Amino acid sequence: MTDKSTIEESKKSLNFIELKIEEDIKNGKNEGRIHTRFPPEPNGYLHIGHAKSICLNFGLAKKYNGKCNLRFDDTNPVKEDVEYVDSIMEDVKWLGFQWFGDVHYASDYFDQLYAWAEKMILAGKAYVDDQKSEEIASQKGTPTVPGKESPFRNRTTEENIDLFRRMKAGEFADGEKILRAKGDMASTNMHMRDPIMYRILHLEHHRTGNKWCIYPMYDFTHGQSDYIEGITHSLCTLEFENHRPLYNWYLDNLIDTDYRPEQTEFARLNLSYTVMSKRKLLELVENNYVDAWDDPRMPTVSGMRRRGFTAEAIRVFADKIGIAKRNNVIDVSLLEFCVREDLNKKADRLMTVLDPVKLLITNYPEDKEELMTVDNNPEDESRGTREIPFSREIYIERNDFMEDAPKKFFRLSLDKEVRLKGAYIIKGESVVKDADGNITEIHCTYDADSKSGSGTEASQRKVKGTLHWVSAKHAVPVKVKQYDRLFNHEAPDGQDEDFKTFLNPDSLKIVEGGMAEPAIKNLKPYETVQFQRQGYFCVDKNSTPDDIVFNRTVTLKDGWSIGKK
Ligand code: ATP
Ligand code: MG
Repeated sequence: MTDKSTIEESKKSLNFIELKIEEDIKNGKNEGRIHTRFPPEPNGYLHIGHAKSICLNFGLAKKYNGKCNLRFDDTNPVKEDVEYVDSIMEDVKWLGFQWFGDVHYASDYFDQLYAWAEKMILAGKAYVDDQKSEEIASQKGTPTVPGKESPFRNRTTEENIDLFRRMKAGEFADGEKILRAKGDMASTNMHMRDPIMYRILHLEHHRTGNKWCIYPMYDFTHGQSDYIEGITHSLCTLEFENHRPLYNWYLDNLIDTDYRPEQTEFARLNLSYTVMSKRKLLELVENNYVDAWDDPRMPTVSGMRRRGFTAEAIRVFADKIGIAKRNNVIDVSLLEFCVREDLNKKADRLMTVLDPVKLLITNYPEDKEELMTVDNNPEDESRGTREIPFSREIYIERNDFMEDAPKKFFRLSLDKEVRLKGAYIIKGESVVKDADGNITEIHCTYDADSKSGSGTEASQRKVKGTLHWVSAKHAVPVKVKQYDRLFNHEAPDGQDEDFKTFLNPDSLKIVEGGMAEPAIKNLKPYETVQFQRQGYFCVDKNSTPDDIVFNRTVTLKDGWSIGKK
């Protein structure tokens, strides 16, 4: 999957949507215009699946010199909220895209949709049904058994228009009446069996307030909204394939121009070790299984941003997984691979010791301090260098020292030499232990001629190990949040048990007592760096100079405790 050559090859060939678009352009369809849209329902925060759809829709518009709208599909006031609207706009922009013109809302079209509903009634294509929704559902039939016609199906046009207007005027309670299209109760496509067009909901809408107490259904809204906006290619996920005949049928009944938007379906993104449905993600937030929608363990765009994933890495990921016609599951480690690749190029290196043990250089002058010059990013010279203070007492990682080390241990042990990154070669001499036998201090000597970059012979001397370190006197304490998979099952969604059964109890580990070089203080929330030899870490949004908190973005190598290596 991460094999470079296959990625390059797949890049060259067009996906089936691009092939279709190129064919449409060649045939002069819609005067060669390409206009897509991203149509989120503002009932949750965007997740990585939405990011795929965003990259597809905005990406196609960019590639073919077209336009892409952002349209909120806000026809269900029960679950919608401005908080979601704002976060969605922020996420789309953060991913690197800009919608064409103003933001659109399906609710902007409520007047037009209402007029179209009346048109359907007047044409004898829609009727008001007095039955309860359970009754209607019980008459629906099955794919092989035709449905039963409603006893209200043959109301007169006059009666229907009168009742529908009174529905709008608020004369009826929720669920008392419903507007249905006169489809075909025997159709093999269940969606064509007298689908619901409008339902009564006495609820305030986040944009239209109390103007309406009837709201159009998704199917009666989406195609017409596409039409109003001049959309040419309406891309949606495979579960809408069976809705396509209805999408076209409404337009055929309402529109007499040649121009039509066209719906094409593609496979949704499924990612291993996570759930993607907004309803389930909301459940995790509301029941405090996670901090919030932007908890760094969440598969949301805001969670990934907070964790330190970059927009570029997500775009590259979307590109690598491509667009398919059949549903599949993508291994989350591919996403992490993309993040690692991108951060390797972009993240400055810093030295942070997460589990410190003190190391004393006995032959280094007590009051001496030096500044060691190191590259910020060896992958990118333009990032320059910085200076790190060095002194007699430093911290190293506790597991970088072993008293009785096996032969293959290339870190520090007694009588062995290692280089301190960007500084001197030191040699283990002795240890100090507490009453329980734990090492409290390591004593070493240093080779004063071996300073990195000093040009001396000793500075070129090769030793097996290189350790990161922090001068104790200058060290800045940091807290680190280490994340593992949120779920400990590869597919928490499709099981017999509730998906929450598979929540990983060890998905968050807070590591206190880390010590970092002083440059750490210059970082701002959402900045990501590499802690040398440890991984990539991002300053948490709630981090303050007095309480510096990092989120571990990804480890340096793919090595999670759960899941595929
Ligand atoms: P969810 O099932 O998570 O609630 P949804 O489909 O109801 O998602 P919408 O807000 O309606 O969420 O989705 C907006 C757009 O994003 C739609 O065009 C939808 O097809 C697309 N989309 C949603 N989930 C995915 C996914 N996993 N992969 C690709 N596209 C997706
Ligand atoms: Mg939806």
